[in-house]
Amino acid sequence: MNQIKVLSDNLINKIAAGEVLERPSSAVKELVENSIDASATKIKVHVRNGGKTEIRVSDNGHGLSQKDLELALKRHATSKLSIENFSNIKTLGFRGEALPSIASVSEMTIQSNDKFDQDGIMIEISSGNLKKIRPVNQSKGTQVSVKNLFFYTPARLKFLKSENYESLLIKRTIQKLALSYHRIEFSLLMNGKEIIKTNPIHKESYFQSLENRVSEVLGKEFVENTLKLDETVDNFRLRGLIGLPTFNHSNNNNQFVYVNGRAINDKSINVIFRLAYRDLISFDRYPQLILFIECPPSEVDINVHPAKSEVRFQSINHLRSLIIRTFNETFSKSGLRTNTLNTRKAVSKINSNFSYQKELTLKEKSYNQGYFQNPESKFFLKKSSEEDKIYPLGFARSQFHNTYVISETKTGIIIVDQHAAHERIVYEKLKKDYYNKDVKTQILLIPVIIDLEKIILDNLKGLYKISSRYGLEMDQFGNSSVIVREIPYILTDCDVKKLALDVIDELIENKNTKRIEKQIDSICSRMSCHGSIRAGRELQVDEMNDLLRKIEETPFSAQCNHGRPTYVELKLKDIEKLFGRK
Ligand code: ADP
Ligand code: MG
Repeated sequence: MNQIKVLSDNLINKIAAGEVLERPSSAVKELVENSIDASATKIKVHVRNGGKTEIRVSDNGHGLSQKDLELALKRHATSKLSIENFSNIKTLGFRGEALPSIASVSEMTIQSNDKFDQDGIMIEISSGNLKKIRPVNQSKGTQVSVKNLFFYTPARLKFLKSENYESLLIKRTIQKLALSYHRIEFSLLMNGKEIIKTNPIHKESYFQSLENRVSEVLGKEFVENTLKLDETVDNFRLRGLIGLPTFNHSNNNNQFVYVNGRAINDKSINVIFRLAYRDLISFDRYPQLILFIECPPSEVDINVHPAKSEVRFQSINHLRSLIIRTFNETFSKSGLRTNTLNTRKAVSKINSNFSYQKELTLKEKSYNQGYFQNPESKFFLKKSSEEDKIYPLGFARSQFHNTYVISETKTGIIIVDQHAAHERIVYEKLKKDYYNKDVKTQILLIPVIIDLEKIILDNLKGLYKISSRYGLEMDQFGNSSVIVREIPYILTDCDVKKLALDVIDELIENKNTKRIEKQIDSICSRMSCHGSIRAGRELQVDEMNDLLRKIEETPFSAQCNHGRPTYVELKLKDIEKLFGRK
């Protein structure tokens, strides 16, 4: 039988490294977090070859004495944890694992100085073995260099991806930290090229400094297309910038979530965002947002995983309803706002068409001009400026291609997609009426009979009473059909058969599978398609203005049920730019 042996420290560290260090970006995270914990105000990160060849982090933090530096490399040696603060940890690190783990799978050099006026100390370790300690010329602070990470652990090395991919993860790591620590100056260089540079922020209000940092790190657009959120309820404070529903993304990479300043990556929170944006965004798109959750340390367990990116909340249900409610309130309060990206896209599109048009022949030009004076486009009377204040979406000027309503506002023009906008209005109305148990119906003069397969009829048993709550009165008729007797009043002009079939589909598909609110959303959504003013229908002026007024009154009406915008706004200054006036 094999003899049992206690593992050597070096071996234990290599095992721990497997957990703490998944890839170069994890080493970057650990080292920068150490700099933050050391109260640094400047942190520089250099990486080469996606961090695979070298990672160098330098800071102006409090530094380490020779004695502490030697200790820091020992396993479970930390200055941050004691029995007193065990359940009230304020630092990012506390497990004392990062330095020994990294040292065990790389060639590491640390130079540090905890004084202003003397030499610092340098230590060199290779694969966990101490090579050298000597004095070094180093100002107050610490510099850690990690070369050839995983070079001697080929199994892990094999899992690393391309330089580009690893670089991207490192960039995201620094972005996340920079979004949370506004007072620290971060810089990230990759193969000598500056990728991120932030300025320190002092004095300004919380949102000024947050928005400033977000612009530096993620770009101006992120600020322009998000709404401010700041709510405190019971033990929780939620703050941040939450994306307009139309400012969505193909994955959840742009959801930055922090708990007490620590960036986390928690699936249960991502699911909550889905719920909060449930009927505002199509199911395959993701909102973009930054959310800082602050709560007493006792509300959350951060010690779930060595990398500390997963957490466990004591009262996740409470947090869930809090997020959903505050997000929805923020959307409603914001009233009418649509994604500025659309405007920008439109403007740049028109600009590029313009340069193309320059090359058109004269004949084509005059044809184009004729087109814009198309007698079919309708222009209407001017309104008084008093009314602007009351009506943010202005007044309908014309309808183009029987699909878009153009309205004039004080600050520009608005182009409304009549179908998308109306669909949203009908949807919200159906939902509101449903919740208020106030669905007005219209009895059909001639009931509509729809033949269905037996298996569908069997499935429908017991579901008719559900559809009647939505104002769709139907019942089995004979052995092979259903009869529709009443429809919601708001859907008066719809194709009853198509409507009923759609609802039947939805009822059967989601029988018992969806939560009740979800069912309400999807049934109302299906029904709203049928009541909508179709694209291609000519509208009278009062119908157009009626539509604008209803958009103004309807919550979340800047996007349709599928997350597409219902209108875009062109500001006068954008239009002036097009004509070279500004
Ligand atoms: P932890 O951060 O969990 O304490 P680490 O292994 O990352 O564990 O670091 C061990 C100790 O080394 C820290 O507790 C801290 O005292 C010290 N240390 C690490 N990095 C720095 C730094 N950049 N500046 C000052 N002290 C540092
Ligand atoms: Mg640490």
